[in-house]
Amino acid sequence: MSEPASNPTKKKEIKVHVMRCRGEGCGALLALEETDEGLLLGNMIDVAERDGDLAFFRCRRCGGRNLVEEVEFEGKMRSRVAGFVAA
Ligand SMILES: [Zn+2]
Repeated sequence: MSEPASNPTKKKEIKVHVMRCRGEGCGALLALEETDEGLLLGNMIDVAERDGDLAFFRCRRCGGRNLVEEVEFEGKMRSRVAGFVAA
């Protein structure tokens, strides 16, 4: 049938790992994947929660906000984690 979506074709090898909450002493796994370069896979900023100008993913364990921002990387707009705000 169709190819598994978890195997995107990339020009170079990029290591991907599950993102962890940036909260100090938390480190809960979030349902997001990021590369070694700190970039999130996919246009995750499009599905992030919004609060004014901020885009973030809330941690289910500590309730903190893992802020994300858009950055230009190799000519493409990508998103990356920009910081953390405790609950
Ligand atoms: Zn957390």
